[in-house]
Amino acid sequence: MNEYDSNRIYDLVKKINYKKTNNIHEADCYVLNTCHIREKATDKVYHDIGRVKKVFKNKNKPIIIITGCVAQAEGEVLLEKEKYIDAVIGPQSYQNLNETILKLEKRIIKVNSTNFDVIDKFDNLNSIKNSNNKISSFLTIQEGCDKFCKFCVVPYTRGSEYSRSIKELIRESIDLVENGAKEITLLGQNVNAYNFGGKKLSHLINEISKIDKLERIRYTTSHPIDFSEDLIHAHLEFDKLMPMIHLPVQSGSNKILRSMNRKHTVENYLDLIDKLKKNKPSIKFSSDFIIGFPGENDIDFQETLELLKKVEFINTFSFIFSPRPGTPAASMKKIDLDIAKERLITFQTVAQDIKMNYRKNLFNKKSSVLFENAIGKKMNYFGRDEYLNSVIVRSDENLIGKTKEVKIIDGNQNTLFGELTQNKICKGFAA
Ligand code: SF4
Repeated sequence: MNEYDSNRIYDLVKKINYKKTNNIHEADCYVLNTCHIREKATDKVYHDIGRVKKVFKNKNKPIIIITGCVAQAEGEVLLEKEKYIDAVIGPQSYQNLNETILKLEKRIIKVNSTNFDVIDKFDNLNSIKNSNNKISSFLTIQEGCDKFCKFCVVPYTRGSEYSRSIKELIRESIDLVENGAKEITLLGQNVNAYNFGGKKLSHLINEISKIDKLERIRYTTSHPIDFSEDLIHAHLEFDKLMPMIHLPVQSGSNKILRSMNRKHTVENYLDLIDKLKKNKPSIKFSSDFIIGFPGENDIDFQETLELLKKVEFINTFSFIFSPRPGTPAASMKKIDLDIAKERLITFQTVAQDIKMNYRKNLFNKKSSVLFENAIGKKMNYFGRDEYLNSVIVRSDENLIGKTKEVKIIDGNQNTLFGELTQNKICKGFAA
């Protein structure tokens, strides 16, 4: 979502004649768009500001603005602690960015803009064309979260659930496709909670799939309790919807899920996976796991391993629990760090084996790959198959923006290597 937000920030500042530069030495304004999900997010802000300070030593300082979730969570503290920062702007207040920059040009004030004005924000952004021109583009359709998992800062930094209108999303999707996008990933902290006047995510997918040159649609991130029947069926109904779902579960222990306030059980989760697979057998899953959440014992951890093996996730993102200030879990008693580290290693070893077995099964089979860019000078092209696996092929033909059938010949845990087949039709390969 931050990548989407950063692109929209570039679109926004064009209005006041600022443009993107890759050369930090010539920047008049430096916007650091931050994420609060990972550990030590605030330290990273101070570290980055230190880098800017060095670059601008003996020169006029640029305008320094911190945006994103760290700005929302730590706004006042940041301004207090680091005088080099001129403004903090929360993720629901980007519409105030230009006005803030213009004020700061005149060195008027320090600005703390961290209200939750999400309607105002999107009203403002809708009037500005999305100029992102990536083959695979992001589109924020929903923001915020009402679930309040005990470990998570999102409800406090992005506010409550808000869905953008179908009309504005179709218009922005058309813009992206006109700019060259062949794939759109619909984004939301709770993307499958999307609901605009009773119209759900499946309705939006249906509408967006009518855009002619758009080939692929994805969505992320989903919450198991918001996975409605219509969305399950959408995977069968719409060819453009990719058969890969990121469905965070966090733990395989009902006791821990309860303690996390996840609002679902292991049984609910497995039932859902079962339904989705019965509806479309080629569907695959990735997930997020927190290892060593407060109260996790050996039995809980073994249950998490069992779940991992049962679902055979083709990709997992796993981290040791680390408290986020202000969340309920921050005051819970942590488990021994060495035990948590040991469990993480065990978890990741099993997850890696599952992933590698899955990947080896792809060798000598065909995949449909959408190519996004060229890499190096040897006519190597990078793309992704329907399951988000990275694939590299060598070709004399420029493949950027094309979807091709590829025979996978080799691979490792990060990348698959393949060669183009002669076939032109490249849809619906079971992997
Ligand atoms: S559902 Fe996701 S975004 Fe919402 S509180 Fe839980 S982890 Fe955070």
